Order: sequence, then C-alpha cells, then structure tokens
Amino acid sequence: MKLKGKFRKRKNLVICPICHVELSANDVNINGLVVCPVCGAVIEIIKSEGQKIPIVHNVETKRPQPLFRLHTIATHFSIGLLPVAMLAQIWLFFARASGELLGNLDLLLPMCFLFLSIVLIGGILTFATGFVDWKRKYRGRNYEIITRKIRWSIVLFILLNFAIFLFWIELFGWSFLTQIFALGVIAKIGHLGGFLVFGK
Ligand SMILES: [Zn+2]
Repeated sequence: MKLKGKFRKRKNLVICPICHVELSANDVNINGLVVCPVCGAVIEIIKSEGQKIPIVHNVETKRPQPLFRLHTIATHFSIGLLPVAMLAQIWLFFARASGELLGNLDLLLPMCFLFLSIVLIGGILTFATGFVDWKRKYRGRNYEIITRKIRWSIVLFILLNFAIFLFWIELFGWSFLTQIFALGVIAKIGHLGGFLVFGK
C-alpha cells in the first residue's frame, strides 16, 4: 500500500472528478488546464497543502470518443491471433515430443510463422490507427496514459520482432517465451486503452 502510494505520487496522478479516470498532473497545458480524454471535463489542478485538487471549469461538448472505433476493432487481430499461434506451437511441441505421426507437421511451422507475422503487421496497423486517433480525436494533447501506451507499444514491437527472429532461426522455445511476454504487454496496452473507452 505504501509502495503503491509512492508509485502514484511519482506518476503525479489526479482523478477526474466526473468520470474517475486517472490523469496525470504532468498533462496540463500552458494554461494549467487538462481536458479529460474520456468525459471532456476541463480541469484545473490546484495544489493546496501538498494535495492536488482537480477543479472542473467546463465540459467540452466534443468528446474524443469515436463512434466508429477503428483502433479498438483493429486491436483484436493481434489479440486474437497470437494465442492461436501459441496454441499451435504447444500442440506442435507435444506432437513432436510424443513422436507420433499426426499428419504433416511441417506445414504447421510455416503457418505459425505466418500467424506471428500477421500479429506484427496487425500490431503496426493498430498502432497507426491509435496514433491517428490521438492526433485527430484527442487533438494530439499530452496524456500520460497515451504516452504509456506508446512506450509499451514500442516494447511490444521489439518483443514481436525478436520472437519472429527466434522462430526463424528455429529457437522455438525462446521464441515462445518471448511471445508470452508479448502477450502480457498486449494485455497491458489493452488494459490502459480500456480506461480511455470506459473511464474507471
Ligand atoms: Zn473525466
């Protein structure tokens, strides 16, 4: 609890009084205001006796919430295909270990490789749609939550490229391990994205 408190302090968190999404006091613009990315509240953060107090001055009518959410749709390609590719690899592992003939196993290897490549391409496209959303719908405003999503996305691309490379040089076990981490990072990015859609 104490550690968590310290962590919150470092991130300079402020809670939107209307929708309760976590914002960062670092997000304020030159006028000292931050617009909540979820509910559009125009918030001024004043400091009083070491406490950060969010004060709502106005509510923007234009919400960044898109009706047609290309980003949220696109993200499911990566989220959906990676576990499929991983399950196929587990199956392949046991089929090889048991030494039983279970059809043409050679075909599964390039298929897994293809799936992993699609996950990477899907990830890049998802990132691109998210980036465009940020620039247009969120007007390129500085939000720590979006910054964190971008940072984690970079980690994800490194992991996915690494996993594909390891798969290519037939270090399947290490590739699989990297894919587990990549799956965790995808979950993390999606979890953060959920706050931007539903608040908290
Ligand atoms: Zn809000």
